[in-house]
Amino acid sequence: MTRNTSRIAIIGGGLSGLYTAYLLELRGFANYQIFEARSRLGGRIDGFSLAGADMSDANSSDRFDLGPTWYWPQMQPAFAQVIAELGLESFAQYDQGDMLFERSQSSPPMRMSGYRNELLTMRLVGGMSALIAALQEKIPADKICYQQQVQAIALANDEVTLQLASGAIAHVDQVIIAAPPRLIASTVSFQPALPNQLQQAWLATDTWMAPHAKFLAVFPTAFWREQGLSGSARSNIGPMVEIHDASLPNGKAALFGFVGYPAEARRQLGAEQLQQQCQAQLLRLFGPLAATVEGFELKDWAQDPLTATVTDSSGQAAHPQPPSYFVADGPWQHKLFGAGSEWSTNYPGYLAGCIEAAEQALLKVAWL
Ligand SMILES: Cc1cc2nc3c(=O)[nH]c(=O)nc-3n(C[C@H](O)[C@H](O)[C@H](O)COP(=O)(O)OP(=O)(O)OC[C@H]3O[C@@H](n4cnc5c(N)ncnc54)[C@H](O)[C@@H]3O)c2cc1C
Repeated sequence: MTRNTSRIAIIGGGLSGLYTAYLLELRGFANYQIFEARSRLGGRIDGFSLAGADMSDANSSDRFDLGPTWYWPQMQPAFAQVIAELGLESFAQYDQGDMLFERSQSSPPMRMSGYRNELLTMRLVGGMSALIAALQEKIPADKICYQQQVQAIALANDEVTLQLASGAIAHVDQVIIAAPPRLIASTVSFQPALPNQLQQAWLATDTWMAPHAKFLAVFPTAFWREQGLSGSARSNIGPMVEIHDASLPNGKAALFGFVGYPAEARRQLGAEQLQQQCQAQLLRLFGPLAATVEGFELKDWAQDPLTATVTDSSGQAAHPQPPSYFVADGPWQHKLFGAGSEWSTNYPGYLAGCIEAAEQALLKVAWL
């Protein structure tokens, strides 16, 4: 079999793009380039540290997740295998103690015992950013182009031309899209146009968690644990509807919550008001020690144009039905492949989906 001598462009430096590059490196394939629109890697994996924490240390114990937090090794063994292969340290989500429940404005929070994660739910030391840092180490620095948003992709005479927002142009033979299908179908123009059915399927694919926002608060100690609380809470009042312990082993303590207000309501309220309401909710739930907060962050993914589109912001985002990750016929056949998580057959939208989507895309990129 002839070895692939194509020039390959990977669009997106999130987990899918980096894992695709890692697989290419493992196979000794060097003729590729990652084009990432942001000035950082990770995409939906993003970390928060208190001012002064050392973010350059991949194993920093004070880096908290603003995006994904968990994986479930029993359901996602291949993902757990990658974590092990990369030598990353993991630990179980803290769920010992009572959960709090805010039923209504008129009644105080109730303590509820016996709520444990049904499935083993794991986190990474250093947050999910540690996974990005570990993959980055395996990829030569000159393979990654930052702040290079792909705006247009054109095919002529068997060559693919990428038009970048910077004004630069790149010529390649094959393109692997490691970004959400809806985002790409909405923001990148294709010449010739993608087959209509494929374009519609990509546009119809919800970007997992894109409509959501996370609030994170860091504390000197996990004072709730000393009160027999797990740090988990559910609320009918909000703004946060679901809260969890986000503390890191041997690091700072933290709580995070998913904001329940819809994206448009959050936008109208504004970040400052929303943060105040989240802090007030933590005081209401966890008592006066919640005032010892050392730092907090709100990440609204619906307002991140490199994750969410207007369609995502107005919806709830179900786990997507994966659309086709390759073009079955016409000029784009053998030229364009989808490797973002939403294209994964079995775990669309999840971190585990990034691994599967990268592997299934590379199986289609001939001769590798
Ligand atoms: C709040 C939140 C919580 C989550 N929790 C979990 C969890 O606990 N467990 C779990 O399994 N999953 C979770 N997820 C989902 C998980 O984050 C995603 O499955 C995963 O990060 C997707 O990675 P990706 O590389 O496919 O896409 P992305 O991370 O979206 O990366 C795409 C990259 O492409 C770049 N890009 C976009 N357009 C262009 C362009 N035109 N040109 C160049 N670059 C471009 C973007 O900047 C980005 O870096 C969560 C997501 C969010 C937002």
